[in-house]
Amino acid sequence: MGTVEPQVATQSEAQTVDGFQLVIDALKLNGLDTIYGLPGIPITDLTRRAQAAGLRVLSFRHEQNAGYAASIAGFLTQKPGICLTVSAPGFLNGLNALAHATVNCFPMILISGSSEREIVDLQQGDYEEMDQLAIAKPVAKAAFRVLHADDIGVGIARAIRAAVSGRPGGVYLDLPAKLFAQSIDAAAGKNSLIKVVDAAPKQIPAPESIKRALDLLRSAKKPLIVLGKGAAYAQADAQIKDLVEKTGIPYLPMSMAKGLLPDTHELCASAARSFVLPGADVVMLIGARLNWLLSHGKGKTWGGKGHKDWGGQKFIQIDISPQEADSNVRIDAPVVGDIGSCVSALLSNLGNLPKPPAEWLNAINEKKTTNVAKMGETLAKNPSPMNFHSALNVVRDIVKANPDAMLVNEGANALDFTRSIVDMYKPRKRIDVGTWGIMGVGMGYCVAAAVVTRQPVIAIEGDSAFGFSGMEVETICRYDLPVCIVIMNNNGVYKGTDKDPTGRDPAPTVFVKGARYDKLMEAFGGVGVNATTPAELRKAMEEAIRSKKPTLINAVIDETAGTESGRITSLNPSAAKKK
Ligand code: ADP
Ligand code: MG
Repeated sequence: MGTVEPQVATQSEAQTVDGFQLVIDALKLNGLDTIYGLPGIPITDLTRRAQAAGLRVLSFRHEQNAGYAASIAGFLTQKPGICLTVSAPGFLNGLNALAHATVNCFPMILISGSSEREIVDLQQGDYEEMDQLAIAKPVAKAAFRVLHADDIGVGIARAIRAAVSGRPGGVYLDLPAKLFAQSIDAAAGKNSLIKVVDAAPKQIPAPESIKRALDLLRSAKKPLIVLGKGAAYAQADAQIKDLVEKTGIPYLPMSMAKGLLPDTHELCASAARSFVLPGADVVMLIGARLNWLLSHGKGKTWGGKGHKDWGGQKFIQIDISPQEADSNVRIDAPVVGDIGSCVSALLSNLGNLPKPPAEWLNAINEKKTTNVAKMGETLAKNPSPMNFHSALNVVRDIVKANPDAMLVNEGANALDFTRSIVDMYKPRKRIDVGTWGIMGVGMGYCVAAAVVTRQPVIAIEGDSAFGFSGMEVETICRYDLPVCIVIMNNNGVYKGTDKDPTGRDPAPTVFVKGARYDKLMEAFGGVGVNATTPAELRKAMEEAIRSKKPTLINAVIDETAGTESGRITSLNPSAAKKK
């Protein structure tokens, strides 16, 4: 495939515009100014020319990481994150992130170059031959292909609307190689572009749905609000805070909703989770699905007796998707609309809603006090070697002192412990493994978080989780991003003590003992630190935040620390069998 070099236009050429330029102009026209991708045939010139045209083009070492970066940029900005990949293998590498965006309701557009339709469809064996559109469809919210340069404007407009309207998701846009070289009349080209008007229209809830929800709340003796990442995405922070504080209802933040109100808020029930879920009588879900992360709204977690049982809670569910209600258990009061509009409507109709009974609030506070004290004792210990708790006690202080910093978090134990130990103080500061609980988002998220927010980024990574995207430390160094990665290094997956019973190989779950991940960062000019005590860890983290230099701290954790599958042991078939 020949490359199309930008050239000084002659008089006649000046009156035409090619596909490359139209894609760039369409993105710019819609305020999409950052591309996360990886160059190669047929999109190398697209990356060059986009950069020349003033777009930020961030080049990764593997498409999956570029894709995760784009997906989280979508979550943070409410604009579709753009991931750009080459055909077949590059496209497939990006597909994981596209699926992730769709599953997590993050707006993202995966733009992929592809090979010649005529040859692909006759299966004549083209360079990187693959029917990419068909493959993307099942994991995308929508998928489009553009064959003519004068349709580029429409293609990008449709992709934007599909990504951000209603329930956001991942969109695939297939751009065959030939399209980029097509030239059309410049004036017609300009006229074919669409600046999308009101891409994510407000969705106002029906007044009767608001009344139904408030009637139910009025009847509650033990109400509870659950805030999910949809609530964080909606950027209705002030209304949500108002709703919690005006109603006085305790709330439980899901992982990425932490910080929507500070975790230290008096109505935050995180430290009493296993008390409030089974105990509540009316639960208002705001941008949170009753999926596995909430035990499907039934069973032991919710005070039910058997598999199909739930504790008899009544549910209010605020969600933009009209199909979400009743997905797992009965929703008594669905409120369909965007969270900003729904919460505002609730607020303006609150009337004389009584405050929750003191008995319920006191019981929660008692639980919280006991659990916080217990956790305090554990955190105060200073064992040697360091364990997850003593290391995370440091992280907890650093995040408290830097509430604007972004926190990226993935792993098994590194995830569970960080989520429960490290308090968040501001909205959308915590980004993690999301709905699937996947590994591999780490370094892609770090790049996007630094680029989008321009704040320091702290990544708390399991040593296994880090491995999925570790090569992107080069990307972090190349763009000189203020990222401080802390690897909780316990020599393996879950922990580092497993043995091969035959004595032949290392066990499947263990890594090289005493690995020095910090050296990886040094290889690219960043700062590497090996930390074996909380004091060393603290000093290194403080220095990283102060200097803003790419830093990787290898935090040496007791290799016996950690439990199989972290807190989701019940999902591990072997552990479930043992029960
Ligand atoms: P969590 O994992 O934090 O519980 P989920 O991903 O399960 O969160 O739920 C997020 C929900 O938020 C989804 O059902 C999605 O439809 C909804 N959602 C996303 N954005 C909005 C919005 N702007 N307004 C209303 N609901 C939204
Ligand atoms: Mg580990």
